[in-house]
Amino acid sequence: MNVLIIGAGIAGLAAADRLVEHGLGPDQIRMVDKSRGVGGRMASRRLTCELGEARFDHGAQFFTSRSSEFAALVDAAVRDGAVTEWTRGFGAEPDGHPRWRGTDAMTALAKWLQHRAGVTPELGYRIDDLGRELAERPATAVIHTAPVPQALATMAFCGLLPEPGLAHRLAQIQYQPTITVLVVPNDAPDGLPPFGASQHHDDPEHPDLAFVADNQAKGISEVPALTIHLSNATSELLWDEPDSVLLERALAAAAHLLGPAANPDRIVAFQVQRWRYAGPVACWPEPTVLWGTDPIIALAGEAFDGPKVEGAFRSGRAAADAIIRRGE
Ligand SMILES: Cc1cc2nc3c(=O)[nH]c(=O)nc-3n(C[C@H](O)[C@H](O)[C@H](O)COP(=O)(O)OP(=O)(O)OC[C@H]3O[C@@H](n4cnc5c(N)ncnc54)[C@H](O)[C@@H]3O)c2cc1C
Repeated sequence: MNVLIIGAGIAGLAAADRLVEHGLGPDQIRMVDKSRGVGGRMASRRLTCELGEARFDHGAQFFTSRSSEFAALVDAAVRDGAVTEWTRGFGAEPDGHPRWRGTDAMTALAKWLQHRAGVTPELGYRIDDLGRELAERPATAVIHTAPVPQALATMAFCGLLPEPGLAHRLAQIQYQPTITVLVVPNDAPDGLPPFGASQHHDDPEHPDLAFVADNQAKGISEVPALTIHLSNATSELLWDEPDSVLLERALAAAAHLLGPAANPDRIVAFQVQRWRYAGPVACWPEPTVLWGTDPIIALAGEAFDGPKVEGAFRSGRAAADAIIRRGE
């Protein structure tokens, strides 16, 4: 068996790790990712500016570990120093569940898992037409971890889609966008709790906000470095607005948390990231979907087992298990 894994996010890496547990060697696993690094939406970015080096987690901010299989992984990553506890809740009263973060950034868990699996992804390698790719480099199985609309698009014209009923149901999986504004302020924010973050779920008082973090207080940046995730609804509404408008809106929305750091005249640098596929509106009821025999194709990722890092991890493993079972 040789398996092509598309995507070096947590789902793809979990699949690779699981295939290795099933006895596949590194020469039987080919992993590609269109990005320059591993981690996918567990993303981090550096910005060098006059204050020093600002570092941001600009996708996922933290993860929880509720299932035993993910908890075991997190424990091992904590032991190796790749992951550390951030806080036990974002509200006034901690709820007791650890929220984990990468020790030096969220990509740390992905890098650590890549190392454990022993795979070397081909980075900057984008697959647009899966049929053409497999004609050039055949695989007995494919695990596709891109957001579902993107995954289906790579199979649209080459006869690799599943039977029409399943294809139709998969095509119904929709995603919500998130606009993320990254800001280096001259002044540290003064309204965030000591661990440096505030979470907002459908917050009627702050409808524009989803999450605000100071990556310096979080422990990954030398200088104040704000990540402001706008809410899905506001992101949808403002999607086509220029970056300068998004900066203004984000600073205004988070002003009560930022204090002097919300002053637009004292911003040192900023960037905007638009996540078109930030998370699924609703999840598929199974952790993976499988079809075909030559090749076997499995979809995996956060749309299949919960719209979070942990769900994506579990889905990647489930896809690897399903492929091994089908191949036996
Ligand atoms: C703004 C934001 C905030 C979030 N906050 C949290 C949070 O706080 N906690 C939490 O648990 N989760 C959070 N999430 C969700 C979490 O990031 C995801 O659930 C998880 O990272 C998804 O992993 P994945 O492997 O399924 O997909 P991804 O991480 O998206 O990985 C898919 C990979 O496939 C690659 N790819 C796609 N198409 C192709 C192609 N055609 N060819 C080659 N490569 C391709 C991509 O480059 C990507 O690296 C957040 C997500 C976003 C966007």
